[in-house]
Parts: sequence; structure tokens; C-alpha cells
Amino acid sequence: MSDHEIDPTSPRMAPRPEVTKIAGRELKPSTLMMGHGFDPTLSEGSLKPPIFLTSTFAFPSAADGKRHFEGITGKRPGGADGLVYSRFNAPNQEILEDRLSIWDGAEDALSFSSGMTAICVLLLTYASQGDVIVHSGPLYAATEGFVAKWMSRWGVSYVDFPAGATREEIDAVLEKAKAKADEQGGKVAMVYLESPGNPTNALVDVQAVRAAVDTAKLDCPIAIDNTFLGPLWQRPLDHGADIVCYSLTKYVGGHSDLVAGSIAGAKKWMDPVRMLRNTMGGICDPNTAWMLLRSLETVELRMSRAGDNAAKVCEYLAKHPKVEGLGYLGMIKDARQQDIYDRHCLGAGSTFSLLLKGGEAECFRFLDALKIAKLAVSLGGTETLASHPASMTHLSVPDERKAALGIGDNLIRISIGIEDPDDLIADFEQALEAV
Ligand SMILES: *Cc1c(COP(=O)(O)O)cnc(C)c1O
Repeated sequence: MSDHEIDPTSPRMAPRPEVTKIAGRELKPSTLMMGHGFDPTLSEGSLKPPIFLTSTFAFPSAADGKRHFEGITGKRPGGADGLVYSRFNAPNQEILEDRLSIWDGAEDALSFSSGMTAICVLLLTYASQGDVIVHSGPLYAATEGFVAKWMSRWGVSYVDFPAGATREEIDAVLEKAKAKADEQGGKVAMVYLESPGNPTNALVDVQAVRAAVDTAKLDCPIAIDNTFLGPLWQRPLDHGADIVCYSLTKYVGGHSDLVAGSIAGAKKWMDPVRMLRNTMGGICDPNTAWMLLRSLETVELRMSRAGDNAAKVCEYLAKHPKVEGLGYLGMIKDARQQDIYDRHCLGAGSTFSLLLKGGEAECFRFLDALKIAKLAVSLGGTETLASHPASMTHLSVPDERKAALGIGDNLIRISIGIEDPDDLIADFEQALEAV
């Protein structure tokens, strides 16, 4: 600061308490995304937070340094109350975490360099040798692989249940997990869910899982990967989950230009994960955190538009003679799935599966003919993407498991973006003609 020094006595430039309410009215997340957690007066009046490219932070005094390290090392509960070192915390990441908490109604959030880093650090925090992880299936392939192939190397086993399971089926799985944990001298460490499942969109009854865990008197957190519907269309903490996980790479980042992840929940669940993140690293970098702050300002707009577009596209596709069916949450055929949807979801999302009459050859002709929709994996971006799970994301899944999960050769996964809906329909129409 030299030529442009701010007059600290100017009333507009004095630090200002944040406004979260006006006339008793709580401000909505989409309003808070423009300023929550950042005070321009602390950064030369910069309206947007600068990107803090620094590895370490100067302490005001030695006593402050000591106090901060007591927080970092867990000697004093509650984490750091100041900035210390960029593997632990830094301004862009703290603002991001404050804003992410708002969307899920969580007390606290932690940001990571990818969705998978978030999920792996979470699982490593809670599971010890001899423990059992209970999870819904299918999970994102890398998550399923981490549990089955890596956690097993450290003596952690798992029991899984299909996404649509009933309360009775969930009760039975928890009993089985408890017996297995007793046998192994461990505990049930976590119930880990993903809803909806990918690419079939099968929903998990989170409320039933909560009730089953409470009845079984299990003292373990329920975590859920909310990447496909969050933060707008599903709020799992309201339905009994303890921890919500995200690949921010998808809808939250929303522009297919970054990779990041997060978890959110009560402080008591976040603090142990923060300790392991402090040790291992894996915190989101400042540039990516800044981009995510940009993205969060439009997340509601983007998701709403993508959801409206998907509804229009699916209405068109559902009537097409070359279409066998749709795995779209706005057109559920099963009564139990519809009941779960009605209790848990606020919108049908914009990612769905399209089943064509035919098999791989028909799907490939369709995919190769698309002109607007891009042929790529991933989802939740501004642009429409299409892929063929059986030969791409799920290629390594054994055939029997693919069949059990309903991932056939005639299934295409589509993530609808924010383009003009009639242009998208025209694109799908001409691609279906090519089949
Ligand atoms: C993409 C994705 C992940 C992994 O996230 P990355 O950011 O790629 O590490 C986890 N879960 C779901 C449901 C995903 O779609």
C-alpha cells in the first residue's frame, strides 16, 4: 500500500459487520454468495477477494503464533482461529468453506483438491483396522475402488446394499455389519451413501438409513455423496445425514474448468477430518478456491436453467419411437422410488440416462452424430455432455455387476447444460435420425 492508501477514518472504509438479515428476514444463499465471509476493507477495498498466493502468514505476535498452533494441533478444540500456513488454511479457502456451509445448512465445511481427495481423507479419518464400512451401491467407481481395494489393505472391510433398499433391508445390512465388526474386533465406522446412483439415478432413502442407524444404536456418521443433486435439489443434512460430500468439479464449479471437492457437516464431524487434512495436505489451492467463489454466485441460476432444460429435453425424448426409456428423476416409474424422491428431492436434476432401442452400435451412431452435445465424461457443466458408461466410465465393471446395476449396452448418460433448450432438442432429433 503506498499511493492508494485507504483513509481508515472514512466511514465507508471501516470494517463492517456482515449483514445476514434485513428487517428480520434471513437472507437467502443466492444473496449471501456475493459477499459472505469477505470484508473488502481488509483488502484495500477490492470488491472481489484477491487470490492470496502465499505459503505462510506473518503472526502479529509470538503469543498469537502459539495460540494458532494450539488450534492446529488439537491442543485446544475448535481449530485455528488465525491464518498459519497454506496447507492448513488460507483466506480464499476459508471464504469458500464459509459459503459452501450456507448451501447445505452445515455448521462447517472443508475444501479439497478433488472430490476423491475429500472422500478418501473422510474415509481414512473414520475407519481403523478391523472396522466395517456400510455403503449403498452403486458408488462412484473410484470411491467403490478405494473402499474395496485400498481400505481392505488396512484391515477395513465393507458391506453394501442396493440404493433402493427398504428399511427392513437396511436393518438387516446393519446387523450383518455389526456382526462382522465384532468378529474383526472393530466397529461400524461409517455409513456411506451416494444418491442418486450413477448412471441409473436410483435414490437412497436417507431418512430410513437415519432411523435404522439410530435403532441399531450405531455411533457412526452417515455420509452422503450429493454431487448429482446438490446443493440445490437435495439437502441431505435435513434428512438425517451427518456429512455431505461433493465433487465441486461438477455442478458447483459448473464450467468444466476446475477439479475440487468438499465435505460439510457439524463441527464435531469436520474437526477430525481437518486434523488429517492438516497432516496430509489436499486442501483446495487458492486459485481454484477463487474460481469456485465465482461459480457459487451463479450456481442457483445455472442449476435452475439446466434443470428446466432437462425437463424439456426429456419430455421430447420420452415420446421418441427410437427411445426405449429414460432414467430421469422427473419421470420415475417405481412407486417406492417416487416416494423417496418426494421426501428428499427439490428437483429432478439435469443428469439422466437415455435407453435406446438397440445396443452399442446404435448408441455409438447417436453419440457420433451429436453436434451441440459434446462426447465426454463428467457432468454438471454449462455445456451438454453425453457418454456411453458401459464402454467408458464403467468399462472395468464386471458384466454381472453391470447387469445388476442396470448398465446395459443401450444406455447413454446425458448431462444437460444451459444452452437454448430448443437447440438441444433439435440436436437430439437429428442424432436420433442417424440411428
Ligand atoms: C466426479 C465425482 C466424484 C469424484 O470427484 P473428482 O472431483 O473427480 O475427484 C465423486 N463422486 C461423484 C458422484 C462424482 O460424480
